[in-house]
Amino acid sequence: MPHKKPLEKEKKTAGEAIRFLFGEAAKSKKYAKKYVQTARKLAMKLKIRMPRELKRQYCKHCYTYFRIGENCRVRVQRGKVVYYCFDCKKYTRIPYK
Ligand SMILES: [Zn+2]
Repeated sequence: MPHKKPLEKEKKTAGEAIRFLFGEAAKSKKYAKKYVQTARKLAMKLKIRMPRELKRQYCKHCYTYFRIGENCRVRVQRGKVVYYCFDCKKYTRIPYK
């Protein structure tokens, strides 16, 4: 397949698709990880950034969709929000203002 530069319009559509996939991840426990992975792949393919509010909703190590108190623990540490993933036992740190 010939490689072409993603158009602005495609990027915008992808942004909407990513939000949609996260919405689905929130609804389905069973497929949440798949939705997050798909959303991430889409973002990488079109070289777009993950929307900031979505970045903190999944584990960057294993792509588990965070359900606070259920599959992750949240702590605030020196200006950072620290998520501890029960699935892969790793931390995801997100700075906040
Ligand atoms: Zn994880």
